[in-house]
Amino acid sequence: MNREPEVLVVGAGPAGLSAARELARLGIDNILVVDRETEAGGIPRFCPHPTFGLADFYRPMSGPAYAARLRSMVDPAMISNATTVTALGPGLETTLSSERGEIVLRPKSLLLATGIRETPRAARLVSGDRPRNILTTGALQRVLSEGKGLPFRRPLIVGTELVSFSALLSLREAGVRAVAMIEPGERIVARRPADLFARAVLGTPIRYRSHVIRINATPHDAGRMASVTIDDASGRSEDVACDAVIFTGCFTPEASLLGRRPDLRDAGTRGPAVDQFWRLAEPGFYAAGNVLRPVETAAWSAREGALAGQAIADDHSGGAPLGERRVPIRTDGLVAFSTPSCLTVPGPALGPLRLAVRVKAAARGRFTLSADGMIVWRSVTMKIMPERRIVLDPKFPDLEKVGELRMGFEAQP
Ligand SMILES: Cc1cc2nc3c(=O)[nH]c(=O)nc-3n(C[C@H](O)[C@H](O)[C@H](O)COP(=O)(O)OP(=O)(O)OC[C@H]3O[C@@H](n4cnc5c(N)ncnc54)[C@H](O)[C@@H]3O)c2cc1C
Repeated sequence: MNREPEVLVVGAGPAGLSAARELARLGIDNILVVDRETEAGGIPRFCPHPTFGLADFYRPMSGPAYAARLRSMVDPAMISNATTVTALGPGLETTLSSERGEIVLRPKSLLLATGIRETPRAARLVSGDRPRNILTTGALQRVLSEGKGLPFRRPLIVGTELVSFSALLSLREAGVRAVAMIEPGERIVARRPADLFARAVLGTPIRYRSHVIRINATPHDAGRMASVTIDDASGRSEDVACDAVIFTGCFTPEASLLGRRPDLRDAGTRGPAVDQFWRLAEPGFYAAGNVLRPVETAAWSAREGALAGQAIADDHSGGAPLGERRVPIRTDGLVAFSTPSCLTVPGPALGPLRLAVRVKAAARGRFTLSADGMIVWRSVTMKIMPERRIVLDPKFPDLEKVGELRMGFEAQP
Protein backbone atom coordinates (compact mmCIF):
# COMPACT_ATOMS: atom_id res chain seq x y z
CA MET A 1 0.00 0.00 0.00
CA ASN A 2 1.11 3.53 -0.83
CA ARG A 3 1.66 4.98 2.66
CA GLU A 4 2.09 8.64 1.77
CA PRO A 5 -0.60 9.38 -0.82
CA GLU A 6 -1.07 12.84 -2.22
CA VAL A 7 -4.75 12.02 -2.78
CA LEU A 8 -6.64 9.39 -0.78
CA VAL A 9 -9.93 8.18 -2.32
CA VAL A 10 -12.23 6.41 0.15
CA GLY A 11 -14.57 4.06 -1.74
CA ALA A 12 -13.88 2.29 -5.05
CA GLY A 13 -17.36 2.48 -6.57
CA PRO A 14 -18.13 4.32 -9.82
CA ALA A 15 -17.43 7.72 -8.18
CA GLY A 16 -14.12 6.76 -6.53
CA LEU A 17 -12.75 4.84 -9.54
CA SER A 18 -13.71 7.62 -11.97
CA ALA A 19 -12.02 10.19 -9.73
CA ALA A 20 -8.84 8.07 -9.58
CA ARG A 21 -8.78 7.65 -13.35
CA GLU A 22 -9.17 11.41 -13.87
CA LEU A 23 -6.52 12.27 -11.26
CA ALA A 24 -4.04 9.92 -12.94
CA ARG A 25 -4.89 11.33 -16.39
CA LEU A 26 -4.18 14.83 -15.07
CA GLY A 27 -0.73 13.86 -13.83
CA ILE A 28 -1.29 13.21 -10.10
CA ASP A 29 0.76 10.07 -9.59
CA ASN A 30 0.50 9.51 -5.87
CA ILE A 31 -3.08 8.26 -5.51
CA LEU A 32 -4.42 5.63 -3.15
CA VAL A 33 -7.96 4.23 -3.48
CA VAL A 34 -9.21 2.12 -0.56
CA ASP A 35 -12.34 -0.01 -0.29
CA ARG A 36 -13.57 -2.24 2.51
CA GLU A 37 -14.74 -4.84 -0.05
CA THR A 38 -12.42 -7.50 -1.46
CA GLU A 39 -12.87 -6.16 -5.01
CA ALA A 40 -13.31 -2.64 -6.39
CA GLY A 41 -16.46 -1.66 -8.31
CA GLY A 42 -19.00 -0.66 -5.64
CA ILE A 43 -22.69 -1.55 -5.81
CA PRO A 44 -22.79 -2.44 -9.55
CA ARG A 45 -20.69 -5.54 -8.78
CA PHE A 46 -23.83 -7.09 -7.31
CA CYS A 47 -26.46 -5.98 -9.86
CA PRO A 48 -26.78 -8.65 -12.57
CA HIS A 49 -29.28 -6.87 -14.85
CA PRO A 50 -28.13 -4.93 -17.96
CA THR A 51 -29.21 -1.48 -16.76
CA PHE A 52 -25.75 0.12 -16.62
CA GLY A 53 -23.42 1.64 -19.20
CA LEU A 54 -25.81 3.32 -21.66
CA ALA A 55 -25.17 6.89 -20.47
CA ASP A 56 -21.36 6.58 -20.23
CA PHE A 57 -20.22 3.69 -22.47
CA TYR A 58 -23.17 3.90 -24.91
CA ARG A 59 -24.23 0.30 -24.58
CA PRO A 60 -26.22 -1.69 -22.03
CA MET A 61 -23.99 -3.55 -19.58
CA SER A 62 -24.62 -5.76 -16.57
CA GLY A 63 -23.48 -4.30 -13.24
CA PRO A 64 -20.46 -6.67 -12.96
CA ALA A 65 -19.38 -5.87 -16.56
CA TYR A 66 -19.74 -2.15 -15.84
CA ALA A 67 -17.69 -2.46 -12.63
CA ALA A 68 -15.01 -4.43 -14.49
CA ARG A 69 -14.86 -1.72 -17.18
CA LEU A 70 -14.34 0.99 -14.53
CA ARG A 71 -11.68 -1.14 -12.78
CA SER A 72 -9.81 -1.63 -16.07
CA MET A 73 -9.34 2.14 -16.32
CA VAL A 74 -7.41 2.41 -13.06
CA ASP A 75 -3.93 1.07 -12.34
CA PRO A 76 -4.56 -1.84 -9.89
CA ALA A 77 -1.44 -0.75 -7.95
CA MET A 78 -3.40 2.30 -6.78
CA ILE A 79 -6.16 0.24 -5.19
CA SER A 80 -6.10 -1.32 -1.74
CA ASN A 81 -9.07 -3.66 -1.24
CA ALA A 82 -10.27 -5.08 2.09
CA THR A 83 -9.18 -1.82 3.71
CA THR A 84 -11.67 0.14 5.79
CA VAL A 85 -11.36 3.74 6.82
CA THR A 86 -12.42 3.70 10.45
CA ALA A 87 -11.86 7.34 11.46
CA LEU A 88 -11.24 10.78 10.02
CA GLY A 89 -9.58 13.28 12.31
CA PRO A 90 -8.63 16.93 12.00
CA GLY A 91 -6.27 17.85 9.17
CA LEU A 92 -7.47 14.82 7.11
CA GLU A 93 -5.78 12.41 9.52
CA THR A 94 -7.20 9.09 8.32
CA THR A 95 -7.16 5.76 10.17
CA LEU A 96 -7.20 2.68 7.93
CA SER A 97 -7.79 -0.84 9.13
CA SER A 98 -7.07 -4.10 7.30
CA GLU A 99 -5.86 -7.56 8.17
CA ARG A 100 -2.32 -6.11 8.01
CA GLY A 101 -3.27 -3.89 10.98
CA GLU A 102 -4.05 -0.24 11.46
CA ILE A 103 -2.25 2.74 9.95
CA VAL A 104 -2.77 6.50 10.00
CA LEU A 105 -2.29 8.56 6.83
CA ARG A 106 -2.26 12.32 6.27
CA PRO A 107 -3.03 12.86 2.59
CA LYS A 108 -2.91 16.33 1.06
CA SER A 109 -6.48 15.76 -0.26
CA LEU A 110 -9.17 13.23 0.53
CA LEU A 111 -12.20 12.30 -1.59
CA LEU A 112 -15.09 10.69 0.27
CA ALA A 113 -16.91 8.37 -2.18
CA THR A 114 -18.51 5.93 0.25
CA GLY A 115 -21.97 5.70 -1.39
CA ILE A 116 -25.22 4.98 0.42
CA ARG A 117 -26.85 2.44 2.68
CA GLU A 118 -30.40 1.05 2.67
CA THR A 119 -32.69 1.29 5.68
CA PRO A 120 -33.13 -2.22 7.15
CA ARG A 121 -36.17 -3.52 9.02
CA ALA A 122 -34.94 -2.48 12.48
CA ALA A 123 -34.65 1.19 11.50
CA ARG A 124 -38.13 1.09 9.91
CA LEU A 125 -39.66 -0.03 13.22
CA VAL A 126 -41.74 -2.85 11.72
CA SER A 127 -43.12 -4.94 14.58
CA GLY A 128 -43.86 -8.67 14.82
CA ASP A 129 -41.85 -11.88 14.79
CA ARG A 130 -38.22 -12.32 13.74
CA PRO A 131 -38.18 -15.16 11.21
CA ARG A 132 -35.38 -15.73 8.65
CA ASN A 133 -35.33 -14.16 5.16
CA ILE A 134 -35.76 -10.50 5.95
CA LEU A 135 -33.35 -8.69 3.61
CA THR A 136 -32.49 -5.42 1.90
CA THR A 137 -31.91 -5.25 -1.86
CA GLY A 138 -28.18 -5.06 -1.25
CA ALA A 139 -28.23 -8.23 0.84
CA LEU A 140 -30.39 -10.00 -1.77
CA GLN A 141 -27.99 -9.12 -4.58
CA ARG A 142 -25.01 -10.16 -2.52
CA VAL A 143 -26.54 -13.60 -1.87
CA LEU A 144 -27.31 -13.95 -5.59
CA SER A 145 -23.80 -12.91 -6.62
CA GLU A 146 -22.39 -15.71 -4.48
CA GLY A 147 -24.38 -18.13 -6.69
CA LYS A 148 -25.82 -19.98 -3.71
CA GLY A 149 -29.50 -19.91 -4.74
CA LEU A 150 -32.27 -18.36 -2.70
CA PRO A 151 -33.75 -20.02 0.39
CA PHE A 152 -37.26 -18.71 -0.47
CA ARG A 153 -39.74 -18.75 -3.39
CA ARG A 154 -42.47 -16.20 -2.54
CA PRO A 155 -40.90 -12.92 -1.38
CA LEU A 156 -42.74 -9.66 -0.84
CA ILE A 157 -41.02 -6.39 -1.84
CA VAL A 158 -41.49 -3.25 0.25
CA GLY A 159 -41.05 -0.11 -1.89
CA THR A 160 -41.36 0.94 -5.54
CA GLU A 161 -38.17 2.97 -6.06
CA LEU A 162 -35.91 2.18 -9.00
CA VAL A 163 -33.95 -0.10 -6.71
CA SER A 164 -37.15 -2.01 -5.85
CA PHE A 165 -37.49 -2.93 -9.53
CA SER A 166 -33.79 -3.85 -9.50
CA ALA A 167 -34.71 -6.35 -6.74
CA LEU A 168 -37.63 -7.62 -8.83
CA LEU A 169 -35.37 -8.17 -11.86
CA SER A 170 -32.69 -9.86 -9.77
CA LEU A 171 -35.34 -12.22 -8.38
CA ARG A 172 -36.51 -13.00 -11.90
CA GLU A 173 -32.95 -13.92 -12.92
CA ALA A 174 -33.00 -16.39 -10.01
CA GLY A 175 -36.35 -17.83 -11.20
CA VAL A 176 -38.33 -16.35 -8.30
CA ARG A 177 -41.52 -14.25 -8.62
CA ALA A 178 -42.38 -11.69 -5.93
CA VAL A 179 -45.94 -12.02 -4.56
CA ALA A 180 -46.48 -8.25 -4.32
CA MET A 181 -44.85 -4.84 -4.07
CA ILE A 182 -46.02 -2.53 -1.28
CA GLU A 183 -46.23 1.23 -1.91
CA PRO A 184 -47.51 3.79 0.64
CA GLY A 185 -48.28 6.39 -2.07
CA GLU A 186 -50.76 6.46 -4.91
CA ARG A 187 -48.25 5.68 -7.66
CA ILE A 188 -44.86 4.06 -7.95
CA VAL A 189 -41.81 6.15 -7.04
CA ALA A 190 -39.82 4.90 -10.09
CA ARG A 191 -40.82 6.01 -13.56
CA ARG A 192 -43.76 4.45 -15.30
CA PRO A 193 -44.17 2.00 -17.03
CA ALA A 194 -42.16 0.02 -14.45
CA ASP A 195 -45.52 -0.67 -12.74
CA LEU A 196 -46.95 -2.18 -15.94
CA PHE A 197 -43.79 -4.21 -16.43
CA ALA A 198 -44.05 -5.59 -12.87
CA ARG A 199 -47.69 -6.55 -13.25
CA ALA A 200 -47.98 -7.62 -16.89
CA VAL A 201 -44.53 -9.12 -17.56
CA LEU A 202 -43.40 -10.35 -14.15
CA GLY A 203 -46.84 -11.11 -12.67
CA THR A 204 -46.25 -9.06 -9.51
CA PRO A 205 -49.15 -6.81 -8.39
CA ILE A 206 -48.46 -3.48 -6.68
CA ARG A 207 -50.53 -2.66 -3.58
CA TYR A 208 -50.89 1.12 -3.32
CA ARG A 209 -51.64 3.23 -0.19
CA SER A 210 -50.41 0.28 1.88
CA HIS A 211 -47.93 -0.21 4.73
CA VAL A 212 -46.32 -3.27 6.27
CA ILE A 213 -47.32 -3.23 9.92
CA ARG A 214 -46.32 -6.70 11.14
CA ILE A 215 -44.22 -9.72 10.17
CA ASN A 216 -45.67 -13.10 11.16
CA ALA A 217 -43.83 -16.39 11.67
CA THR A 218 -45.57 -19.79 11.34
CA PRO A 219 -47.11 -20.93 14.67
CA HIS A 220 -44.94 -24.09 14.86
CA ASP A 221 -41.58 -22.58 13.71
CA ALA A 222 -40.57 -19.09 14.87
CA GLY A 223 -37.77 -19.03 12.27
CA ARG A 224 -40.11 -19.49 9.26
CA MET A 225 -42.10 -16.64 7.80
CA ALA A 226 -45.83 -17.15 7.17
CA SER A 227 -47.12 -13.74 6.14
CA VAL A 228 -46.95 -10.00 6.57
CA THR A 229 -49.85 -7.90 7.76
CA ILE A 230 -50.43 -4.82 5.64
CA ASP A 231 -52.93 -2.06 6.16
CA ASP A 232 -54.37 0.24 3.51
CA ALA A 233 -55.66 3.82 3.51
CA SER A 234 -59.10 2.75 4.80
CA GLY A 235 -57.44 1.23 7.87
CA ARG A 236 -58.31 -2.32 6.75
CA SER A 237 -55.60 -4.85 7.45
CA GLU A 238 -54.87 -8.09 5.62
CA ASP A 239 -52.34 -10.94 5.91
CA VAL A 240 -50.39 -11.58 2.69
CA ALA A 241 -48.75 -15.02 2.57
CA CYS A 242 -45.01 -14.88 1.75
CA ASP A 243 -41.76 -16.54 2.80
CA ALA A 244 -39.41 -13.51 2.65
CA VAL A 245 -39.56 -9.70 2.86
CA ILE A 246 -37.19 -7.48 0.90
CA PHE A 247 -37.02 -3.93 2.23
CA THR A 248 -35.88 -1.74 -0.66
CA GLY A 249 -34.69 1.85 -0.89
CA CYS A 250 -35.07 4.55 1.79
CA PHE A 251 -31.36 5.22 1.32
CA THR A 252 -29.16 7.42 3.46
CA PRO A 253 -25.66 8.64 2.64
CA GLU A 254 -22.88 6.44 4.11
CA ALA A 255 -21.38 9.46 5.83
CA SER A 256 -20.69 8.10 9.31
CA LEU A 257 -17.02 9.07 8.88
CA LEU A 258 -18.06 12.71 9.23
CA GLY A 259 -18.94 11.94 12.86
CA ARG A 260 -20.39 14.80 14.87
CA ARG A 261 -19.32 17.57 12.53
CA PRO A 262 -22.48 19.57 11.68
CA ASP A 263 -20.28 22.07 9.84
CA LEU A 264 -19.46 19.36 7.26
CA ARG A 265 -23.00 18.01 6.78
CA ASP A 266 -25.92 19.15 4.69
CA ALA A 267 -29.10 19.52 6.79
CA GLY A 268 -31.29 18.05 4.01
CA THR A 269 -29.35 14.88 3.13
CA ARG A 270 -27.21 14.40 6.28
CA GLY A 271 -24.40 13.68 3.79
CA PRO A 272 -21.42 15.98 3.19
CA ALA A 273 -22.19 19.61 2.29
CA VAL A 274 -20.20 20.37 -0.86
CA ASP A 275 -19.74 23.46 -2.99
CA GLN A 276 -19.66 23.62 -6.79
CA PHE A 277 -16.10 22.18 -6.74
CA TRP A 278 -17.11 19.15 -4.59
CA ARG A 279 -15.35 20.62 -1.55
CA LEU A 280 -16.39 20.43 2.08
CA ALA A 281 -15.72 23.24 4.54
CA GLU A 282 -12.30 21.81 5.40
CA PRO A 283 -9.29 22.40 3.14
CA GLY A 284 -8.42 19.40 0.96
CA PHE A 285 -11.65 17.53 1.78
CA TYR A 286 -13.93 16.56 -1.16
CA ALA A 287 -16.94 14.26 -1.68
CA ALA A 288 -18.71 12.86 -4.75
CA GLY A 289 -21.17 10.16 -5.80
CA ASN A 290 -24.06 8.80 -3.82
CA VAL A 291 -22.59 9.80 -0.46
CA LEU A 292 -23.85 13.26 -1.38
CA ARG A 293 -27.48 12.16 -1.55
CA PRO A 294 -29.67 9.11 -2.05
CA VAL A 295 -29.67 7.80 -4.80
CA GLU A 296 -28.31 8.55 -8.28
CA THR A 297 -27.48 6.37 -11.26
CA ALA A 298 -24.02 4.87 -11.59
CA ALA A 299 -23.25 7.06 -14.63
CA TRP A 300 -24.16 10.27 -12.78
CA SER A 301 -22.09 9.23 -9.75
CA ALA A 302 -19.14 8.37 -12.04
CA ARG A 303 -19.46 11.77 -13.70
CA GLU A 304 -19.38 13.50 -10.32
CA GLY A 305 -16.31 11.47 -9.36
CA ALA A 306 -14.50 12.49 -12.56
CA LEU A 307 -15.36 16.16 -11.98
CA ALA A 308 -14.19 15.95 -8.36
CA GLY A 309 -10.93 14.41 -9.64
CA GLN A 310 -10.50 17.39 -11.96
CA ALA A 311 -11.20 19.84 -9.11
CA ILE A 312 -8.63 18.15 -6.87
CA ALA A 313 -6.01 18.14 -9.64
CA ASP A 314 -6.75 21.84 -10.28
CA ASP A 315 -6.33 22.65 -6.59
CA HIS A 316 -3.02 20.75 -6.49
CA SER A 317 -1.67 22.67 -9.45
CA GLY A 318 -2.86 25.95 -7.90
CA GLY A 319 -5.21 26.52 -10.84
CA ALA A 320 -8.66 26.24 -9.28
CA PRO A 321 -10.51 29.33 -8.11
CA LEU A 322 -10.26 28.60 -4.42
CA GLY A 323 -12.86 31.07 -3.21
CA GLU A 324 -12.99 32.60 0.21
CA ARG A 325 -16.57 32.34 1.46
CA ARG A 326 -19.32 29.71 1.26
CA VAL A 327 -22.86 30.90 0.52
CA PRO A 328 -25.33 28.24 1.75
CA ILE A 329 -28.27 27.17 -0.43
CA ARG A 330 -31.10 26.50 2.05
CA THR A 331 -34.22 24.68 0.89
CA ASP A 332 -37.83 25.45 1.79
CA GLY A 333 -41.18 23.69 1.72
CA LEU A 334 -41.36 20.99 -0.94
CA VAL A 335 -37.66 21.20 -1.84
CA ALA A 336 -35.74 18.49 0.02
CA PHE A 337 -32.15 19.37 -0.90
CA SER A 338 -29.85 20.61 -3.64
CA THR A 339 -26.43 19.48 -4.85
CA PRO A 340 -24.23 21.44 -4.40
CA SER A 341 -25.62 22.73 -1.12
CA CYS A 342 -23.45 25.84 -1.02
CA LEU A 343 -21.51 27.99 -3.46
CA THR A 344 -18.01 29.26 -2.87
CA VAL A 345 -17.28 32.84 -3.93
CA PRO A 346 -15.48 34.23 -5.79
CA GLY A 347 -15.49 31.81 -8.72
CA PRO A 348 -17.87 30.41 -11.34
CA ALA A 349 -21.34 30.01 -9.77
CA LEU A 350 -21.96 26.47 -10.99
CA GLY A 351 -20.09 23.51 -12.44
CA PRO A 352 -21.12 21.41 -15.50
CA LEU A 353 -23.75 19.45 -13.53
CA ARG A 354 -25.49 22.70 -12.52
CA LEU A 355 -27.87 22.49 -9.53
CA ALA A 356 -29.55 19.10 -8.99
CA VAL A 357 -32.53 19.30 -6.63
CA ARG A 358 -35.00 16.77 -5.21
CA VAL A 359 -38.51 17.35 -3.91
CA LYS A 360 -40.59 15.72 -1.17
CA ALA A 361 -43.90 15.26 -3.05
CA ALA A 362 -45.45 15.42 -6.50
CA ALA A 363 -46.63 18.90 -7.53
CA ARG A 364 -46.86 21.37 -10.41
CA GLY A 365 -45.39 24.86 -10.25
CA ARG A 366 -42.16 26.87 -10.35
CA PHE A 367 -38.92 26.80 -8.41
CA THR A 368 -37.85 30.09 -6.88
CA LEU A 369 -34.41 31.27 -5.83
CA SER A 370 -34.15 33.96 -3.16
CA ALA A 371 -31.04 35.88 -2.18
CA ASP A 372 -31.18 37.27 1.37
CA GLY A 373 -35.01 37.08 1.32
CA MET A 374 -35.63 38.55 -2.17
CA ILE A 375 -36.78 36.30 -5.05
CA VAL A 376 -34.18 36.72 -7.81
CA TRP A 377 -35.16 33.87 -10.21
CA ARG A 378 -38.13 31.66 -11.12
CA SER A 379 -37.99 28.50 -13.22
CA VAL A 380 -40.50 27.70 -15.94
CA THR A 381 -43.64 25.87 -14.72
CA MET A 382 -42.99 22.14 -14.40
CA LYS A 383 -44.42 18.93 -12.95
CA ILE A 384 -42.19 17.51 -10.23
CA MET A 385 -41.95 14.06 -8.65
CA PRO A 386 -40.08 12.88 -5.53
CA GLU A 387 -36.89 10.79 -5.89
CA ARG A 388 -36.20 12.26 -9.36
CA ARG A 389 -33.21 14.35 -10.29
CA ILE A 390 -34.34 17.86 -11.35
CA VAL A 391 -31.51 19.88 -12.88
CA LEU A 392 -31.84 23.67 -12.62
CA ASP A 393 -29.73 26.44 -14.10
CA PRO A 394 -30.74 29.52 -12.09
CA LYS A 395 -29.54 33.00 -12.83
CA PHE A 396 -27.60 34.10 -9.76
CA PRO A 397 -27.15 37.70 -8.60
CA ASP A 398 -23.67 38.94 -7.72
CA LEU A 399 -22.89 36.30 -5.06
CA GLU A 400 -20.14 38.39 -3.48
CA LYS A 401 -22.93 40.52 -2.01
CA VAL A 402 -25.16 37.62 -0.87
CA GLY A 403 -25.21 36.02 2.59
CA GLU A 404 -27.68 33.20 1.95
CA LEU A 405 -29.58 31.61 -0.96
CA ARG A 406 -32.93 29.84 -0.62
CA MET A 407 -34.53 27.43 -3.10
CA GLY A 408 -38.31 27.20 -2.79
CA PHE A 409 -41.27 26.03 -4.86
CA GLU A 410 -44.47 27.90 -5.72
CA ALA A 411 -47.14 25.24 -6.27
CA GLN A 412 -49.84 25.97 -8.86
CA PRO A 413 -53.24 24.32 -9.15
C1 LIG B 1 -29.60 -2.38 -5.31
C2 LIG B 1 -29.19 -1.27 -6.23
C3 LIG B 1 -29.42 -1.38 -7.60
C4 LIG B 1 -29.01 -0.37 -8.47
N1 LIG B 1 -29.23 -0.50 -9.82
C5 LIG B 1 -28.76 0.46 -10.66
C6 LIG B 1 -28.91 0.32 -12.08
O1 LIG B 1 -29.50 -0.65 -12.54
N2 LIG B 1 -28.36 1.28 -12.90
C7 LIG B 1 -27.71 2.37 -12.39
O2 LIG B 1 -27.21 3.22 -13.16
N3 LIG B 1 -27.57 2.54 -11.05
C8 LIG B 1 -28.07 1.62 -10.19
N4 LIG B 1 -27.94 1.79 -8.85
C9 LIG B 1 -27.23 2.98 -8.37
C10 LIG B 1 -25.71 2.79 -8.50
O3 LIG B 1 -25.34 1.54 -8.03
C11 LIG B 1 -25.02 3.86 -7.73
O4 LIG B 1 -25.40 5.09 -8.28
C12 LIG B 1 -23.50 3.82 -7.79
O5 LIG B 1 -23.02 2.57 -7.38
C13 LIG B 1 -22.96 4.93 -6.89
O6 LIG B 1 -21.57 4.92 -6.95
P1 LIG B 1 -20.69 5.41 -5.71
O7 LIG B 1 -19.29 5.24 -6.15
O8 LIG B 1 -21.15 6.73 -5.28
O9 LIG B 1 -21.06 4.43 -4.50
P2 LIG B 1 -20.98 2.82 -4.33
O10 LIG B 1 -21.14 2.10 -5.61
O11 LIG B 1 -21.95 2.53 -3.24
O12 LIG B 1 -19.50 2.60 -3.79
C14 LIG B 1 -19.11 3.02 -2.50
C15 LIG B 1 -17.94 2.19 -2.06
O13 LIG B 1 -17.43 2.72 -0.85
C16 LIG B 1 -16.99 1.65 -0.03
N5 LIG B 1 -16.94 2.11 1.36
C17 LIG B 1 -17.96 2.62 2.10
N6 LIG B 1 -17.52 2.98 3.32
C18 LIG B 1 -16.19 2.68 3.36
C19 LIG B 1 -15.17 2.82 4.36
N7 LIG B 1 -15.42 3.35 5.57
N8 LIG B 1 -13.91 2.40 4.07
C20 LIG B 1 -13.62 1.85 2.85
N9 LIG B 1 -14.56 1.71 1.86
C21 LIG B 1 -15.82 2.13 2.10
C22 LIG B 1 -18.04 0.57 -0.28
O14 LIG B 1 -17.53 -0.71 0.03
C23 LIG B 1 -18.32 0.74 -1.77
O15 LIG B 1 -17.55 -0.12 -2.58
C24 LIG B 1 -28.37 0.79 -7.96
C25 LIG B 1 -28.17 0.91 -6.58
C26 LIG B 1 -28.58 -0.10 -5.71
C27 LIG B 1 -28.38 0.08 -4.24
